[in-house]
Amino acid sequence: MSSLILASRNPHKIIELQDLLTGTSLRVLSALDFDNLEEVEEDALTLEGNALKKARYTALATGMPCLADDTGLEVNALNGAPGVYSARYAGPHASYEDNVEKLLSELADKELRTAQFRTVIAFVDGTNEWLFEGICKGIISDKQIGSGGFGYDPIFIPDQYTKTFAELDSKEKNQISHRGLAMKKAVEFLEKWA
Ligand code: IMP
Repeated sequence: MSSLILASRNPHKIIELQDLLTGTSLRVLSALDFDNLEEVEEDALTLEGNALKKARYTALATGMPCLADDTGLEVNALNGAPGVYSARYAGPHASYEDNVEKLLSELADKELRTAQFRTVIAFVDGTNEWLFEGICKGIISDKQIGSGGFGYDPIFIPDQYTKTFAELDSKEKNQISHRGLAMKKAVEFLEKWA
């Protein structure tokens, strides 16, 4: 059985990847299983750059193959913002609520509400590097609806749906989400790589 590390301490991401790998010969550890890993600053200019930075650091620090992800919400009327800055759109210590409120106010006078979540997953095995992308298109609602999920979920309505991500249960969201799609691509690859 091969082991790999997900460079994350987020229990939702860890469980989602573990679920997708059930029944394969791959075992997932995470940053929670190591006490010597530092927090990697996500200061690259692209999602790809941040995902690679985290995966390279963790692969080097542990000597194990590593997966890392970065996600951004790209809003068309804002030329792709907040994008790679999604986590700190309203400032360096912004809460999810601050970021959502800032985005709603930036879009207050805009008719164009289309957006996409984009996740990039990097996989680094010590020799080679691979990238996997998942995109979920939708629109930004004009107010917050729903109490599930996190981040921008209460204002993102995926295409073909009438509910926000925050109104879907996590299983339903994972089936169509940017991260779910990127993870499925990575898992398809990893099954062959293992
Ligand atoms: P991360 O790369 O997963 O840390 O995501 C960066 C930021 O994007 C988070 O702080 C959230 O604000 C936002 N984000 C990422 N994934 C999602 C999602 O599935 N729903 C809503 N917001 C998300």
